[in-house]
Amino acid sequence: MELPQAQQTSVPQIAVFIERCTCINCGGDNLIELSAGRFDEGAVQRFIAEDPWGENPAPFLKGKPWSYVACQNCGQAFHRYILDPEWNERRFSKWMTQEAIEVFEKSIKTPEREFQKATVFTTHVLKIEQLTRAIRGGQAPRVLDFGCGYGGFLSMCSMYGFEAYGVDRAAAKRDHGVYDKIFAEIGDVIDKAPFHALTLFEVLEHLDEPYNLMVELGALLVTGGILVLETPNCTGIHSIKTQSDYRKIHPLDHINGFTPKTLKCFAQRLGFEPVSPPISYVTCNPKKIVKSLAKSLLSPVMKPTTQLYFRKL
Ligand SMILES: [Zn+2]
Repeated sequence: MELPQAQQTSVPQIAVFIERCTCINCGGDNLIELSAGRFDEGAVQRFIAEDPWGENPAPFLKGKPWSYVACQNCGQAFHRYILDPEWNERRFSKWMTQEAIEVFEKSIKTPEREFQKATVFTTHVLKIEQLTRAIRGGQAPRVLDFGCGYGGFLSMCSMYGFEAYGVDRAAAKRDHGVYDKIFAEIGDVIDKAPFHALTLFEVLEHLDEPYNLMVELGALLVTGGILVLETPNCTGIHSIKTQSDYRKIHPLDHINGFTPKTLKCFAQRLGFEPVSPPISYVTCNPKKIVKSLAKSLLSPVMKPTTQLYFRKL
């Protein structure tokens, strides 16, 4: 149906944000503002203008504030204002188009990086296989990778004989994926549960309600099952001044800023205990083996990370 002339020349739309008034980790309401600004000013405006987009989001963000807060109770940091579901859908479908994602990925993709990514996936496969051996009774490891993207980790799991499933909300990633068992929603994989392992690589920092989602996902894991969480490490980041700050706490995309401490507390609150994964070597370089071994022996005094393994109690 064609709209009347008056409605076609509508006033420019401004994005709608909702406010998160309680901590995304512990639920507390004692929040302190670490930094704040507007989307159309300063470093944030500049970085958004430099990013590749489908539809340019800048006109819709005019005058809108962002506010990065921390919980006084547990230390969790996060963005107070997040896009409402309708605008978030627009972000996925119109702003972050497949073409825009490809331009960004191309800018960071190198052969070395791809090789490194695959060796890291293999080390996870080896660790998960060993850590779940006692709870599988001879069955193949059943893994769910939530926020699996194109399914690179899943295809690696599958090559090792795992029964692997993925969930990703981005249709573009499911359609251009390298693996065929990727679904749109958690509801689509319930009949494949229970899983022996659940992985979330670079996912928690994107979620509106990470705690509630993890309750739902955790229920699909067997008791004693393994949870692998990886997020950017936002230790010491309180404001957005540099490109690196922006990549870690992008106010439209990386709306939750985890540190080793808050990530560990988050999982513990959900009924998981930290475990030390076994050491795994995927390298032809003996020096790297020595380095991995030293790292593992020194782990109690090493800098903590946001790449953590847990077991469901
Ligand atoms: Zn908290």
